[in-house]
Amino acid sequence: MSTTARIPGVIPAYEDYARCVHCGLCLNDCPTYRLWQLEADSPRGRIRQMIQVNEDKFPLTASFVDHIDKCLDCRACETACPSGVKYGKLVEYARARIELEYQRPWLTRLVRKYVFERLLPCPGRISKAAKVLRFYQRSGLQTLARRTGALKLFGLFEQESLLPPIDDVFFFNKLGETFPARGQRRARVAFFAGCVANVTFTGLNDATIRVLTANGCEVLVPRDQLCCGALAAHAGVREAARELASQNIKAFESAAFDAILTNAAGCGSTLKEYDHLFSPSEPEYAAAVAFRDKVRDVTEFLAALGLSASLKPMLQRVTYQDSCHLLHGQKVKDAPRQLLRAIPGVELVELPHSDICCGSAGIYNVTQTKASLELLKEKMEHAKTTEAKIIATANPGCILQLRAGVERHTTGQEILHVVEFLDRAIS
Ligand code: SF4
Ligand code: SF4
Repeated sequence: MSTTARIPGVIPAYEDYARCVHCGLCLNDCPTYRLWQLEADSPRGRIRQMIQVNEDKFPLTASFVDHIDKCLDCRACETACPSGVKYGKLVEYARARIELEYQRPWLTRLVRKYVFERLLPCPGRISKAAKVLRFYQRSGLQTLARRTGALKLFGLFEQESLLPPIDDVFFFNKLGETFPARGQRRARVAFFAGCVANVTFTGLNDATIRVLTANGCEVLVPRDQLCCGALAAHAGVREAARELASQNIKAFESAAFDAILTNAAGCGSTLKEYDHLFSPSEPEYAAAVAFRDKVRDVTEFLAALGLSASLKPMLQRVTYQDSCHLLHGQKVKDAPRQLLRAIPGVELVELPHSDICCGSAGIYNVTQTKASLELLKEKMEHAKTTEAKIIATANPGCILQLRAGVERHTTGQEILHVVEFLDRAIS
């Protein structure tokens, strides 16, 4: 069976690659090209390599895998491209091919298999792993490991420093609940809670529900929802992403609501593209299209609905870092800025190069830590120049990365999701 036949879902056609006219207008928007000035690590160079591999002019070598792995899948090149190249679709297909045809080192294969196929799809395993991690973080073991140099010995020092603190109470407890609108009901929405966010961003999810209910939304949190599958889809593990998509489509189809909301731009981008995981001939395709059409980022939804809750003044200088999968993946630029400006007293200053990735990019900061930290360094230099006390953003992954940046580069800034800042302002 050919590789194409073994990869389910959308397969890019020759025309999708041929749209690239090699103009180079995307180069300066590509974070990896900006870092290394290498054609092979630019969108244009990567597309060229994909074509050569597809046409069997070039074998699928370790070098090809390396250039594709180093791509952040941030999709800044899509925004920059005047020719309409849908780069995300191309790189995700290249990764699906790599997954099938390339033998990674055994330990990497083992870890990937466990994370994408066993851990992320299973809330019970996420809870257990989080409890072990919480013990490590709070028992003194973390301090010991950091002080004794054990982490450096195993080459894990940088990765460990990016670990999120585990919550006391997990948001998993709230799956299945319904939160009534305060005042007159203006909308009925379903909330997508994420996977790891259930154990690391309970506070953000609670704040999202408070902001929505305060603005007249009844919020349902469907019980049987699972991880959105974004990490698996971006890594090329398409079968795992499809399984999760099928489960989520079922979990959200039982009740009628106006929208499916997420506060995670990375999840939202994949949820809005669930149809890419199925081919039009498959029975799930129509349901995936119906699901996709209901998904909104929480900032996008609130800006369109209009804020009805009264907001107290917050006399703060604030800047905003675009989340790649909100700006480039979902083309949502104004909504989060509009919400921040709606808070009385807020002085919103633009962050130079806010459209360039902070280096978080799903698991990129763990798999490509050096490049991720270089991007973060540049980001924090720009953040310093704004003299803003708060950096707002719209994705949990970006929040963690930027918090690590504040600590490493001692900028003293606070990192908040836009809805967390709104929550503070709601009287
Ligand atoms: S801007 Fe578009 S057409 Fe031009 S090189 Fe980049 S991907 Fe190709
Ligand atoms: S997705 Fe981002 S890192 Fe990858 S080629 Fe495009 S701009 Fe560069």
